[in-house]
Parts: sequence; structure tokens; C-alpha cells
Amino acid sequence: MFWPAAGFLIAVIFASFYAWALHRYVMHRPLGKFRYPFEAHTLIHHHVFRADETYHLINPKDAQTIPMAWWNGPVLVLLGLLPFVAIAG
Ligand SMILES: [Zn+2]
Repeated sequence: MFWPAAGFLIAVIFASFYAWALHRYVMHRPLGKFRYPFEAHTLIHHHVFRADETYHLINPKDAQTIPMAWWNGPVLVLLGLLPFVAIAG
């Protein structure tokens, strides 16, 4: 029971750091010529959703402006697995 609990705790801590680092270093500033995350997240998403009462969806039509392409989820999960694959290998 110890190792599954330790693995879960490590995964939660890693996922939190991973999400924070992606947000801070990839989604909130241009990464050289790779500007897609910055433009889709900061310029479009945070134009509508900010750190105030607009953090939550107020206007239903803004749900259409949440720009996350279908492939973003699988790519982010695969990138997040790389450190664990490297450790296991
Ligand atoms: Zn953001």
C-alpha cells in the first residue's frame, strides 16, 4: 500500500509542477518561433477568461472561444510521460 500511495503523491506533485511550468514558460510567452500556445492561450483565452469574475464562464457564447485543439490533450499527456519513461528505461 505504501508504493501505490507514494506513486500517487509523486504523480500529483509532478502534474502540478508540469501544469505550472507549461503555463508559465510555454503558454504565457512566445517560445521563439513556436507561438501557437502563447497566441491560443494568452491572446485568445485570457482575452475572455481572466483572474477576476470572468475566470468562470459568464457568457455562454464564450464557450466557443476556449481554444484547445483536440490534439493538445494527447500531446501534453505524452510530453508529461517522458520523464517517467526516461526513469523507467
Ligand atoms: Zn493562462
